[in-house]
Amino acid sequence: MRIDILTLFPEMFDSLKASLLGKATEKGALEINVINIRDFSKDKHKKCDDYTFGGGSGMLMTPQPIYDALTSIENYKKAHKVYMSPRGRVLTQAVVKEYSSYEHLIILCGHYEGVDQRIIDLLIDEELSIGDYVLTGGELPAMVVVDSVARYLPNVLGNSASVEEESFSNGYLEYPQYTRPAEFMGMKVPDVLISGHHANVERWRKEQAMQITKERRPDILK
Ligand code: SAM
Repeated sequence: MRIDILTLFPEMFDSLKASLLGKATEKGALEINVINIRDFSKDKHKKCDDYTFGGGSGMLMTPQPIYDALTSIENYKKAHKVYMSPRGRVLTQAVVKEYSSYEHLIILCGHYEGVDQRIIDLLIDEELSIGDYVLTGGELPAMVVVDSVARYLPNVLGNSASVEEESFSNGYLEYPQYTRPAEFMGMKVPDVLISGHHANVERWRKEQAMQITKERRPDILK
């Protein structure tokens, strides 16, 4: 999978080299290309924002640098082009899974008050939100998309079964998990987990997942 990210703050993506995503790119499962929108500005001061028509507080990202940056990407027409935006479809695990099937994603990160509507109308397939709150820029939301989607790519996670067993993947939140030692600060791991009886372990996990989901997120069960 290839992901092109358009941003005014490319240095924010340096952290993607760490951890799992670094490994995913090293292994060739994922190619991440960060593009600085400012490099495409035709303004003599490389300006990329301006006042909004009709008044209002704050600045808006101007269309020209974004248009030129996005259309400079090879095969951009075939890619799924997303603008990170609080107005967008909310990212869920189902959306993450859907996104993992795209071969080429282009993610536009907004800043200030966002981007000129004509960019959305001309080039963007979908606006995507990471939740009902407002951040300063689309960079953190883009990283959330990249991280969550990368976990579905083949050869990225050591154990591909873990994605399927996690919260949201099967319609429930995850059951409680324990590791060694079997007793810590006087608290023992539930007997069933050390019984070696796989069917009972499975049943216990399902019951726990159901109970936790019912208590914390009844909306998911619906
Ligand atoms: N004026 C915009 C509005 O009211 O919808 C908010 C702009 S926000 C300050 C600046 C940028 O941050 C947006 O263009 C978007 O790219 C990004 N952003 C902020 N919150 C977001 C969210 N919840 N999901 C995705 N992107 C978000």
